[in-house]
Amino acid sequence: MSTDFDHIVIGAGISGLGAAHFSARRGLGTLVLEASDRVGGCINSQTLDGLGGFWTEGGGHTCFNSYGNMLSILDDLGLTSQVQPKLKVGYSLWKDGKRRKITSALHFLEAARSIPRIFKAPKAGRSVRDYYGEVLGRRNYQDLLRHAFQAVICQPADDYPAEALFRRKPRRKDVIKAFTFAEGISAIPNAIAAQKGLEVRTSQSVSEILADGDGFRVRLKDGSELTSRALTLAVPPDAATQLMPAGFEAARAAIADIGVAEIETLVIAVRKTDLDLPPTAGMIAVEDAFYSAVSRDFLPDAQYRGFAFHYKPGTLDPDAQLQRACTVLGIRPEQIAAQARIHNRLPALRSGHAERVAQLDTALAGKRLGVTGNWFIGVSMEDALTRSRSEDERLFGN
Ligand SMILES: Cc1cc2nc3c(=O)[nH]c(=O)nc-3n(C[C@H](O)[C@H](O)[C@H](O)COP(=O)(O)OP(=O)(O)OC[C@H]3O[C@@H](n4cnc5c(N)ncnc54)[C@H](O)[C@@H]3O)c2cc1C
Repeated sequence: MSTDFDHIVIGAGISGLGAAHFSARRGLGTLVLEASDRVGGCINSQTLDGLGGFWTEGGGHTCFNSYGNMLSILDDLGLTSQVQPKLKVGYSLWKDGKRRKITSALHFLEAARSIPRIFKAPKAGRSVRDYYGEVLGRRNYQDLLRHAFQAVICQPADDYPAEALFRRKPRRKDVIKAFTFAEGISAIPNAIAAQKGLEVRTSQSVSEILADGDGFRVRLKDGSELTSRALTLAVPPDAATQLMPAGFEAARAAIADIGVAEIETLVIAVRKTDLDLPPTAGMIAVEDAFYSAVSRDFLPDAQYRGFAFHYKPGTLDPDAQLQRACTVLGIRPEQIAAQARIHNRLPALRSGHAERVAQLDTALAGKRLGVTGNWFIGVSMEDALTRSRSEDERLFGN
Protein backbone atom coordinates (compact mmCIF):
# COMPACT_ATOMS: atom_id res chain seq x y z
CA MET A 1 0.00 0.00 0.00
CA SER A 2 1.36 3.45 -0.84
CA THR A 3 1.12 5.85 2.06
CA ASP A 4 1.58 9.61 2.57
CA PHE A 5 4.40 9.03 5.08
CA ASP A 6 6.55 6.14 6.32
CA HIS A 7 5.95 7.19 9.91
CA ILE A 8 3.47 9.54 11.54
CA VAL A 9 4.08 10.64 15.14
CA ILE A 10 1.25 12.14 17.15
CA GLY A 11 2.33 14.71 19.73
CA ALA A 12 5.28 17.13 19.51
CA GLY A 13 6.48 16.98 23.11
CA ILE A 14 10.01 15.68 23.63
CA SER A 15 8.80 12.04 23.35
CA GLY A 16 7.22 12.58 19.94
CA LEU A 17 10.00 14.80 18.64
CA GLY A 18 12.56 12.24 19.82
CA ALA A 19 10.67 9.42 18.08
CA ALA A 20 10.49 11.53 14.92
CA HIS A 21 14.17 12.48 15.13
CA PHE A 22 15.24 8.83 15.37
CA SER A 23 13.11 7.70 12.41
CA ALA A 24 13.95 10.74 10.25
CA ARG A 25 17.66 10.01 10.83
CA ARG A 26 17.02 6.55 9.35
CA GLY A 27 15.84 8.30 6.17
CA LEU A 28 12.17 7.51 6.79
CA GLY A 29 9.60 10.08 5.63
CA THR A 30 8.39 11.31 9.04
CA LEU A 31 5.55 13.65 9.95
CA VAL A 32 4.70 14.95 13.44
CA LEU A 33 1.16 16.14 14.16
CA GLU A 34 0.70 18.42 17.16
CA ALA A 35 -2.62 19.69 18.52
CA SER A 36 -1.34 22.92 20.03
CA ASP A 37 0.12 25.88 18.14
CA ARG A 38 3.69 25.19 19.30
CA VAL A 39 6.07 22.28 19.76
CA GLY A 40 7.57 21.19 23.10
CA GLY A 41 4.55 20.17 25.20
CA CYS A 42 5.75 20.30 28.83
CA ILE A 43 8.94 22.04 27.67
CA ASN A 44 7.85 25.64 27.46
CA SER A 45 10.40 28.42 27.85
CA GLN A 46 7.82 31.14 28.16
CA THR A 47 8.84 34.45 26.64
CA LEU A 48 6.97 37.13 28.55
CA ASP A 49 5.32 40.03 26.71
CA GLY A 50 7.11 43.35 26.50
CA LEU A 51 10.27 42.32 28.38
CA GLY A 52 12.73 42.27 25.47
CA GLY A 53 12.79 38.49 25.11
CA PHE A 54 13.06 37.61 28.82
CA TRP A 55 11.83 34.04 29.36
CA THR A 56 11.11 31.74 32.30
CA GLU A 57 10.63 27.99 32.18
CA GLY A 58 6.94 27.12 32.51
CA GLY A 59 7.72 23.37 32.55
CA GLY A 60 10.91 21.31 32.25
CA HIS A 61 13.89 23.42 33.29
CA THR A 62 17.00 21.24 33.69
CA CYS A 63 18.89 18.69 31.62
CA PHE A 64 21.76 16.67 33.04
CA ASN A 65 24.89 15.12 31.57
CA SER A 66 23.32 11.74 32.37
CA TYR A 67 20.72 12.36 29.64
CA GLY A 68 22.45 10.13 27.06
CA ASN A 69 19.63 9.98 24.51
CA MET A 70 19.04 13.71 24.77
CA LEU A 71 22.77 14.36 24.29
CA SER A 72 22.93 12.08 21.25
CA ILE A 73 20.18 14.20 19.66
CA LEU A 74 22.02 17.42 20.62
CA ASP A 75 25.17 15.93 19.04
CA ASP A 76 23.24 15.14 15.83
CA LEU A 77 21.96 18.72 15.71
CA GLY A 78 25.31 20.34 16.58
CA LEU A 79 23.85 21.78 19.78
CA THR A 80 26.02 20.15 22.46
CA SER A 81 28.58 22.96 22.31
CA GLN A 82 25.83 25.52 23.01
CA VAL A 83 24.73 24.21 26.40
CA GLN A 84 24.80 26.80 29.20
CA PRO A 85 25.82 25.86 32.72
CA LYS A 86 23.20 26.54 35.38
CA LEU A 87 24.26 28.75 38.25
CA LYS A 88 24.34 26.76 41.50
CA VAL A 89 21.55 28.15 43.65
CA GLY A 90 19.64 26.13 46.25
CA TYR A 91 15.97 25.53 46.96
CA SER A 92 14.27 26.62 50.15
CA LEU A 93 11.04 25.53 51.81
CA TRP A 94 7.88 27.63 51.95
CA LYS A 95 6.16 26.63 55.17
CA ASP A 96 3.54 28.36 57.33
CA GLY A 97 3.89 31.55 55.30
CA LYS A 98 7.69 31.77 55.66
CA ARG A 99 10.81 30.87 53.71
CA ARG A 100 12.93 28.34 55.58
CA LYS A 101 16.11 26.37 55.01
CA ILE A 102 15.75 22.83 53.70
CA THR A 103 17.76 21.60 56.68
CA SER A 104 15.12 23.01 59.06
CA ALA A 105 12.90 20.03 58.14
CA LEU A 106 15.62 17.39 58.24
CA HIS A 107 15.85 14.98 61.17
CA PHE A 108 19.57 14.25 61.09
CA LEU A 109 19.67 11.41 63.61
CA GLU A 110 16.83 9.56 61.93
CA ALA A 111 18.52 10.00 58.53
CA ALA A 112 21.85 8.73 59.86
CA ARG A 113 20.14 5.65 61.32
CA SER A 114 18.12 4.92 58.16
CA ILE A 115 20.57 5.64 55.34
CA PRO A 116 22.43 2.26 55.50
CA ARG A 117 19.11 0.67 54.45
CA ILE A 118 19.49 2.35 51.06
CA PHE A 119 21.83 -0.49 50.05
CA LYS A 120 19.39 -3.30 50.78
CA ALA A 121 15.90 -1.80 50.69
CA PRO A 122 14.01 -3.14 47.66
CA LYS A 123 12.59 -0.43 45.37
CA ALA A 124 10.65 -2.41 42.74
CA GLY A 125 6.89 -2.45 43.24
CA ARG A 126 6.99 -0.08 46.23
CA SER A 127 5.44 3.34 46.65
CA VAL A 128 7.49 6.48 47.17
CA ARG A 129 6.15 6.71 50.75
CA ASP A 130 7.17 3.12 51.62
CA TYR A 131 10.58 3.15 49.99
CA TYR A 132 11.83 6.61 50.96
CA GLY A 133 10.21 6.36 54.38
CA GLU A 134 12.39 3.30 54.94
CA VAL A 135 15.67 4.63 53.56
CA LEU A 136 15.52 8.13 55.07
CA GLY A 137 13.13 7.63 57.96
CA ARG A 138 9.38 8.19 58.37
CA ARG A 139 9.70 11.65 59.86
CA ASN A 140 12.13 12.80 57.18
CA TYR A 141 9.74 11.51 54.57
CA GLN A 142 6.73 13.21 56.12
CA ASP A 143 8.35 16.56 56.85
CA LEU A 144 10.71 16.98 53.90
CA LEU A 145 10.99 14.35 51.17
CA ARG A 146 7.27 14.07 50.51
CA HIS A 147 7.11 17.79 49.70
CA ALA A 148 10.29 17.71 47.66
CA PHE A 149 8.94 14.82 45.54
CA GLN A 150 5.59 16.55 45.15
CA ALA A 151 7.47 19.60 43.91
CA VAL A 152 9.17 17.45 41.24
CA ILE A 153 6.10 15.64 39.94
CA CYS A 154 3.55 18.43 40.73
CA GLN A 155 1.07 16.04 42.35
CA PRO A 156 0.69 13.98 45.54
CA ALA A 157 3.74 11.73 45.81
CA ASP A 158 2.85 9.11 48.46
CA ASP A 159 1.45 6.45 46.11
CA TYR A 160 3.74 7.15 43.15
CA PRO A 161 5.92 4.13 42.22
CA ALA A 162 9.39 4.62 43.75
CA GLU A 163 11.12 3.10 40.72
CA ALA A 164 9.67 5.82 38.47
CA LEU A 165 11.55 8.53 40.38
CA PHE A 166 15.31 9.02 39.99
CA ARG A 167 17.57 6.39 38.52
CA ARG A 168 21.33 6.39 38.27
CA LYS A 169 22.48 6.82 34.69
CA PRO A 170 26.01 7.09 33.34
CA ARG A 171 27.26 10.67 33.03
CA ARG A 172 28.99 12.21 30.03
CA LYS A 173 32.14 13.75 31.41
CA ASP A 174 32.60 16.11 28.44
CA VAL A 175 29.31 17.89 29.22
CA ILE A 176 28.49 20.19 32.13
CA LYS A 177 26.49 18.42 34.87
CA ALA A 178 23.25 20.47 34.77
CA PHE A 179 22.53 22.60 31.75
CA THR A 180 20.11 24.73 29.82
CA PHE A 181 20.38 26.96 26.73
CA ALA A 182 20.59 30.73 26.31
CA GLU A 183 16.97 30.70 25.10
CA GLY A 184 15.86 28.01 27.57
CA ILE A 185 15.15 24.29 27.17
CA SER A 186 12.70 25.04 24.34
CA ALA A 187 15.82 25.37 22.18
CA ILE A 188 15.81 21.54 22.07
CA PRO A 189 12.27 20.85 20.73
CA ASN A 190 12.56 23.87 18.44
CA ALA A 191 15.80 22.58 16.91
CA ILE A 192 14.51 19.01 16.50
CA ALA A 193 11.38 20.30 14.78
CA ALA A 194 13.30 22.69 12.50
CA GLN A 195 15.73 20.12 11.09
CA LYS A 196 15.61 19.06 7.46
CA GLY A 197 14.04 15.68 6.69
CA LEU A 198 11.37 16.03 9.37
CA GLU A 199 8.00 17.68 8.92
CA VAL A 200 6.04 19.05 11.87
CA ARG A 201 2.50 20.39 11.59
CA THR A 202 1.13 22.28 14.58
CA SER A 203 -2.55 23.10 15.33
CA GLN A 204 -3.40 19.61 14.00
CA SER A 205 -5.45 17.74 16.55
CA VAL A 206 -5.81 14.04 15.78
CA SER A 207 -9.30 12.71 16.52
CA GLU A 208 -9.13 9.07 15.37
CA ILE A 209 -6.71 6.42 14.15
CA LEU A 210 -7.76 3.48 12.03
CA ALA A 211 -5.61 0.42 11.42
CA ASP A 212 -5.76 -0.02 7.66
CA GLY A 213 -4.21 -3.14 6.13
CA ASP A 214 -0.50 -2.93 6.85
CA GLY A 215 -0.63 0.70 7.90
CA PHE A 216 -2.70 3.44 9.55
CA ARG A 217 -5.15 6.15 8.63
CA VAL A 218 -5.00 9.25 10.81
CA ARG A 219 -8.11 11.37 10.97
CA LEU A 220 -7.73 15.02 12.03
CA LYS A 221 -10.33 17.17 13.80
CA ASP A 222 -10.87 19.12 10.53
CA GLY A 223 -11.96 15.84 8.87
CA SER A 224 -8.86 15.40 6.66
CA GLU A 225 -6.95 12.10 6.62
CA LEU A 226 -3.31 11.05 6.27
CA THR A 227 -1.83 7.58 5.91
CA SER A 228 1.38 6.00 7.11
CA ARG A 229 3.12 2.62 7.29
CA ALA A 230 4.04 3.03 10.94
CA LEU A 231 2.60 5.22 13.64
CA THR A 232 3.76 6.38 17.08
CA LEU A 233 1.48 7.76 19.76
CA ALA A 234 3.43 10.28 21.88
CA VAL A 235 0.57 11.83 23.85
CA PRO A 236 -0.47 11.64 27.52
CA PRO A 237 -2.01 8.30 28.62
CA ASP A 238 -5.64 9.48 28.48
CA ALA A 239 -5.16 10.73 24.91
CA ALA A 240 -3.33 7.50 23.93
CA THR A 241 -6.23 5.44 25.33
CA GLN A 242 -8.74 7.48 23.37
CA LEU A 243 -6.72 7.30 20.11
CA MET A 244 -5.84 3.58 20.33
CA PRO A 245 -7.19 2.11 17.07
CA ALA A 246 -9.78 -0.68 16.83
CA GLY A 247 -7.97 -4.01 16.79
CA PHE A 248 -5.70 -2.91 19.69
CA GLU A 249 -8.20 -3.57 22.51
CA ALA A 250 -5.65 -5.32 24.76
CA ALA A 251 -3.29 -2.34 24.40
CA ARG A 252 -6.10 0.07 25.23
CA ALA A 253 -7.18 -1.97 28.26
CA ALA A 254 -3.60 -2.04 29.60
CA ILE A 255 -3.34 1.76 29.80
CA ALA A 256 -6.96 2.85 30.29
CA ASP A 257 -6.68 3.57 34.01
CA ILE A 258 -3.40 5.50 34.02
CA GLY A 259 -4.23 8.89 35.48
CA VAL A 260 -3.08 12.37 34.60
CA ALA A 261 -2.34 15.21 37.03
CA GLU A 262 -3.44 18.68 35.93
CA ILE A 263 -1.22 21.59 36.97
CA GLU A 264 -2.12 25.28 36.86
CA THR A 265 1.12 27.14 36.25
CA LEU A 266 1.52 30.87 36.74
CA VAL A 267 4.67 32.38 35.25
CA ILE A 268 5.64 35.85 36.43
CA ALA A 269 8.51 38.26 35.89
CA VAL A 270 9.60 40.93 38.36
CA ARG A 271 12.16 43.73 38.00
CA LYS A 272 15.30 42.77 39.93
CA THR A 273 15.17 46.07 41.78
CA ASP A 274 11.66 45.26 43.08
CA LEU A 275 12.66 41.98 44.68
CA ASP A 276 14.36 41.56 48.04
CA LEU A 277 15.02 37.83 47.74
CA PRO A 278 18.46 36.21 47.51
CA PRO A 279 19.12 34.19 44.32
CA THR A 280 17.25 30.90 44.60
CA ALA A 281 16.50 27.80 42.58
CA GLY A 282 12.98 28.10 43.90
CA MET A 283 10.69 27.09 46.71
CA ILE A 284 9.26 23.75 47.75
CA ALA A 285 5.86 24.35 49.31
CA VAL A 286 4.79 22.48 52.45
CA GLU A 287 0.99 22.07 52.58
CA ASP A 288 0.18 25.07 50.41
CA ALA A 289 -1.90 25.71 47.30
CA PHE A 290 1.18 25.32 45.11
CA TYR A 291 3.67 22.47 44.90
CA SER A 292 6.69 24.52 43.92
CA ALA A 293 7.90 27.83 42.58
CA VAL A 294 10.81 27.39 40.17
CA SER A 295 12.98 30.44 39.53
CA ARG A 296 14.98 31.48 36.50
CA ASP A 297 17.88 32.59 38.72
CA PHE A 298 19.99 29.75 37.30
CA LEU A 299 20.62 31.93 34.24
CA PRO A 300 20.55 35.49 35.56
CA ASP A 301 19.17 38.33 33.45
CA ALA A 302 20.34 41.94 33.79
CA GLN A 303 16.86 43.35 34.46
CA TYR A 304 14.33 40.70 35.45
CA ARG A 305 13.80 37.65 37.58
CA GLY A 306 11.23 35.02 36.67
CA PHE A 307 9.25 32.38 38.61
CA ALA A 308 6.87 29.60 37.67
CA PHE A 309 4.36 28.74 40.42
CA HIS A 310 2.89 25.28 39.95
CA TYR A 311 -0.55 25.24 41.60
CA LYS A 312 -2.76 22.35 42.62
CA PRO A 313 -5.78 22.36 40.29
CA GLY A 314 -8.98 24.06 41.45
CA THR A 315 -7.52 25.28 44.75
CA LEU A 316 -7.19 29.03 44.15
CA ASP A 317 -8.82 31.24 41.53
CA PRO A 318 -6.45 33.17 39.21
CA ASP A 319 -6.47 36.35 41.35
CA ALA A 320 -5.76 34.40 44.53
CA GLN A 321 -2.92 32.55 42.75
CA LEU A 322 -1.37 35.89 41.81
CA GLN A 323 -1.80 37.16 45.35
CA ARG A 324 -0.19 34.04 46.82
CA ALA A 325 2.79 34.38 44.46
CA CYS A 326 3.18 38.03 45.56
CA THR A 327 3.11 37.01 49.23
CA VAL A 328 5.77 34.36 48.65
CA LEU A 329 8.01 36.80 46.76
CA GLY A 330 7.29 39.73 49.07
CA ILE A 331 5.99 42.05 46.35
CA ARG A 332 2.78 43.90 45.48
CA PRO A 333 0.70 42.80 42.44
CA GLU A 334 1.52 46.05 40.61
CA GLN A 335 5.21 45.09 40.76
CA ILE A 336 4.62 42.12 38.46
CA ALA A 337 6.23 43.14 35.17
CA ALA A 338 4.57 40.39 33.08
CA GLN A 339 2.72 37.13 33.58
CA ALA A 340 1.50 34.09 31.64
CA ARG A 341 -0.64 31.08 32.48
CA ILE A 342 0.14 27.55 31.36
CA HIS A 343 -1.75 24.30 31.74
CA ASN A 344 0.71 21.48 32.40
CA ARG A 345 -0.18 17.78 32.55
CA LEU A 346 1.93 14.98 33.99
CA PRO A 347 1.16 11.27 34.38
CA ALA A 348 -0.18 10.17 37.77
CA LEU A 349 1.47 6.74 38.03
CA ARG A 350 0.38 4.24 40.67
CA SER A 351 1.50 0.83 41.94
CA GLY A 352 1.32 -1.93 39.35
CA HIS A 353 2.55 0.45 36.67
CA ALA A 354 5.36 -1.82 35.46
CA GLU A 355 2.79 -4.60 34.92
CA ARG A 356 0.58 -2.24 32.88
CA VAL A 357 3.53 -1.33 30.65
CA ALA A 358 4.43 -5.03 30.26
CA GLN A 359 0.83 -5.79 29.18
CA LEU A 360 0.92 -2.92 26.70
CA ASP A 361 4.23 -4.12 25.26
CA THR A 362 2.89 -7.64 24.86
CA ALA A 363 -0.14 -6.28 23.01
CA LEU A 364 2.07 -4.15 20.71
CA ALA A 365 4.59 -6.91 19.88
CA GLY A 366 4.93 -7.42 16.13
CA LYS A 367 2.75 -4.38 15.32
CA ARG A 368 3.77 -1.16 13.61
CA LEU A 369 2.25 0.95 16.34
CA GLY A 370 4.63 2.59 18.80
CA VAL A 371 3.56 4.15 22.08
CA THR A 372 5.91 6.49 23.93
CA GLY A 373 5.74 9.25 26.50
CA ASN A 374 6.80 10.33 29.96
CA TRP A 375 4.63 7.59 31.49
CA PHE A 376 6.79 4.50 30.93
CA ILE A 377 10.15 4.57 32.66
CA GLY A 378 9.71 7.88 34.47
CA VAL A 379 8.73 11.47 33.97
CA SER A 380 12.04 13.10 33.03
CA MET A 381 12.83 14.18 29.49
CA GLU A 382 15.50 11.47 29.32
CA ASP A 383 13.07 8.80 30.54
CA ALA A 384 10.73 9.87 27.75
CA LEU A 385 13.50 9.73 25.15
CA THR A 386 14.66 6.33 26.41
CA ARG A 387 11.20 4.95 25.67
CA SER A 388 11.12 6.73 22.29
CA ARG A 389 14.49 5.15 21.40
CA SER A 390 13.38 1.61 22.34
CA GLU A 391 10.11 2.01 20.43
CA ASP A 392 12.08 3.25 17.40
CA GLU A 393 14.25 0.13 17.57
CA ARG A 394 11.22 -2.14 17.96
CA LEU A 395 9.45 -0.57 14.96
CA PHE A 396 12.39 -0.10 12.60
CA GLY A 397 15.16 -2.41 13.85
CA ASN A 398 18.53 -1.83 15.52
C1 LIG B 1 6.60 21.88 35.80
C2 LIG B 1 7.43 20.79 35.21
C3 LIG B 1 8.80 20.74 35.46
C4 LIG B 1 9.58 19.73 34.91
N1 LIG B 1 10.94 19.74 35.10
C5 LIG B 1 11.72 18.83 34.46
C6 LIG B 1 13.15 18.94 34.51
O1 LIG B 1 13.69 19.89 35.05
N2 LIG B 1 13.88 17.96 33.88
C7 LIG B 1 13.29 16.92 33.22
O2 LIG B 1 14.00 16.07 32.69
N3 LIG B 1 11.94 16.83 33.14
C8 LIG B 1 11.15 17.77 33.72
N4 LIG B 1 9.79 17.71 33.61
C9 LIG B 1 9.20 16.58 32.89
C10 LIG B 1 9.33 16.71 31.39
O3 LIG B 1 9.40 18.06 30.99
C11 LIG B 1 8.11 16.06 30.73
O4 LIG B 1 7.82 14.81 31.31
C12 LIG B 1 8.32 15.85 29.23
O5 LIG B 1 8.73 17.07 28.62
C13 LIG B 1 7.03 15.30 28.64
O6 LIG B 1 7.21 15.09 27.26
P1 LIG B 1 6.15 14.21 26.45
O7 LIG B 1 6.44 14.42 25.02
O8 LIG B 1 6.14 12.82 26.95
O9 LIG B 1 4.70 14.78 26.81
P2 LIG B 1 4.09 16.25 26.56
O10 LIG B 1 5.15 17.26 26.71
O11 LIG B 1 2.90 16.29 27.41
O12 LIG B 1 3.69 16.20 25.02
C14 LIG B 1 2.53 15.59 24.53
C15 LIG B 1 2.06 16.40 23.33
O13 LIG B 1 0.97 15.72 22.71
C16 LIG B 1 0.07 16.68 22.22
N5 LIG B 1 -1.23 16.06 22.00
C17 LIG B 1 -2.09 15.55 22.92
N6 LIG B 1 -3.20 15.06 22.32
C18 LIG B 1 -3.03 15.24 20.97
C19 LIG B 1 -3.82 14.93 19.82
N7 LIG B 1 -5.01 14.33 19.93
N8 LIG B 1 -3.35 15.26 18.60
C20 LIG B 1 -2.12 15.84 18.47
N9 LIG B 1 -1.33 16.17 19.52
C21 LIG B 1 -1.78 15.87 20.76
C22 LIG B 1 0.06 17.73 23.32
O14 LIG B 1 -0.44 18.96 22.86
C23 LIG B 1 1.54 17.79 23.71
O15 LIG B 1 2.25 18.78 22.99
C24 LIG B 1 8.99 18.73 34.11
C25 LIG B 1 7.61 18.79 33.84
C26 LIG B 1 6.84 19.81 34.37
C27 LIG B 1 5.37 19.89 34.03
